[in-house]
Amino acid sequence: MNRSTTIPAEIEAQWGRVRARLRSEVGDAAFNSWLRPLTLASSSDDQVVMTVPTRFMRDWVVSNYADKLRLLWSDENTGVASVEIYVRQAEVGLAHDEQAQDGALADGHGVAQNLGDRRALELGAPLDPRFNFQNFIAGKPNELAYAAARRVAEAPVVPFNPLYLYGGVGLGKTHLMHAIAWHIREGQPERKVIYLSAEKFMYQFIRALRYKNVMAFKDQFRSVDVLMIDDVQFIANKNSTQEEFFHTFNALVDQNRQIIISGDRSPSDLDGMEERMRSRLGWGLVADIHATDYELRIGILQSKAEQAGASQIPMRVLEFLAHRITSNVRELEGALNRVLAYSNLVGRPITLETTQEVLRDLLRANDRRVTIDDIQKRVAEHFNIRLADMYSERRARAVARPRQVAMYLAKQLTTRSLPEIGRKFGGRDHTTVMYAVKKITELKESDGTLAEDIDLLRRMLEA
Ligand code: ADP
Ligand code: MG
Repeated sequence: MNRSTTIPAEIEAQWGRVRARLRSEVGDAAFNSWLRPLTLASSSDDQVVMTVPTRFMRDWVVSNYADKLRLLWSDENTGVASVEIYVRQAEVGLAHDEQAQDGALADGHGVAQNLGDRRALELGAPLDPRFNFQNFIAGKPNELAYAAARRVAEAPVVPFNPLYLYGGVGLGKTHLMHAIAWHIREGQPERKVIYLSAEKFMYQFIRALRYKNVMAFKDQFRSVDVLMIDDVQFIANKNSTQEEFFHTFNALVDQNRQIIISGDRSPSDLDGMEERMRSRLGWGLVADIHATDYELRIGILQSKAEQAGASQIPMRVLEFLAHRITSNVRELEGALNRVLAYSNLVGRPITLETTQEVLRDLLRANDRRVTIDDIQKRVAEHFNIRLADMYSERRARAVARPRQVAMYLAKQLTTRSLPEIGRKFGGRDHTTVMYAVKKITELKESDGTLAEDIDLLRRMLEA
């Protein structure tokens, strides 16, 4: 197939008309939310490829506008048989030619590649402009990783080597690495910074082997000042790549070049990684990024809402999201974006009710973590009453109040209905649960100690 990467002026003009028609057909609000970010990435004889910045957006555009797009395109240009929409990848490697030839375009790398940062094309991957220090919210769970990243980015000499960042998915490892790269590129442009995933490293290595230019590969990697390899766990069990990485690593450390590595677990837990590699990875500073806590989630939500120009979101909604979407920052962002998009589309302000409605499926998925049993146990422990009193008939204040707290928490932290909750509390009626929720909501306002108790319980349950 003849895939051209410089887009013919004629196709550009067609795209201009398709856009204009889209806009008038779907209206300004939807257009601005979903279709304005579409970029024409490439065109071939019978296909146009467009990209959007996020996966969420891609899914939305594909499920809501794909037909319309195809129709409008073929209206403009009868040759266009298919319209593909990809996510613009932050992480695209060197091999645009080969990926395109291999037809490995399905993930969008090949196309977005050509839109990326030219300087980085030789070896590394382009950096996401949003992933800078300014947009990174520091808090207890990530304070060491954040401080270490800043130090590495700011220090004129290598402060520790390597910096190894690890933590679960969606907690900001890639964000911090890009932030370091941006910072160094700005402050010390003479230093050559390369960022890429371990997967890409492997891909390039294999490619070098295939084309018999391993020497060039080695030279290139050994001439960088700062090398960042993301998701190093990927090369566990990939022996020859690991071997090559090991040598690259040692060569760079010997020359006192900075290395920054991320992984999904600590060096010693990297199964499938050779012992000598594991031990090298732990030589410098190892910083663990912990799961987010409530404060950090609130901070992140506030910052994202502000960036999205939506500072009018009620605090209650942000609090609700921070309480309920606890898995990772990526999901938290996704949830906020969905709420914003919805309100944008229907043109109504965001309320707690619409938030719950829009996020129903997501909430349910996050919900499985906290069960009513957990809540009852924790609350009983906290107030020093017997677990059995969660189900008992006793009405003494000393047991009734904790029971109400537990019902309140069950309503807040799970998606169980009032009757379901009632059943879990010794077969009580749903009106009893409703009353408990109302009562505790009121009491929280006037009773600071109770409010603190509840906050503490909630955090323990979500931890
Ligand atoms: P990881 O590489 O650890 O899987 P990412 O760095 O890709 O995670 O982060 C996932 C998303 O969450 C990104 O959009 C990132 O900007 C955002 N994010 C993560 N941590 C923070 C933070 N502390 N402050 C702001 N945004 C964050
Ligand atoms: Mg990552």
